[in-house]
Amino acid sequence: MAYEIDKPEEQWRAELTPQEYHVLREAGTERAFTGEYTDTKTVGVYSCRACGAELFRSETKFESHCGWPSFYDPADSSAVELIEDRSHGMVRTEVRCARCGSHLGHVFAGEGYPTPTDQRYCINSISLRLTPEEG
Ligand SMILES: [Zn+2]
Repeated sequence: MAYEIDKPEEQWRAELTPQEYHVLREAGTERAFTGEYTDTKTVGVYSCRACGAELFRSETKFESHCGWPSFYDPADSSAVELIEDRSHGMVRTEVRCARCGSHLGHVFAGEGYPTPTDQRYCINSISLRLTPEEG
């Protein structure tokens, strides 16, 4: 699949920090409860740290107590790409940025969280960049 932003891996490696590269480009996972946005309640927009595409809004962020920023809905469902992930002996749904293909996290459904969608987009802080709303 071709992404709108399609850079050679050497270029991503040069532009991102080693930690960012590991999560975004190698589908790594930051350690639970270590990400900078885990408990953030700031109003604003969360964008892809690799390409800047707008992905989530603070209104859909909720406290899941799972150790990673959790959202119940993307800002625009076409902003993310969902892919079946059979790694680590599990069947999960990987969430990627639809614009550059970078790994964001996973989405889980039916866990019983009191949210409008009953979905939890479990996203690595390091895959996101928060832009606080003005004023
Ligand atoms: Zn992106």
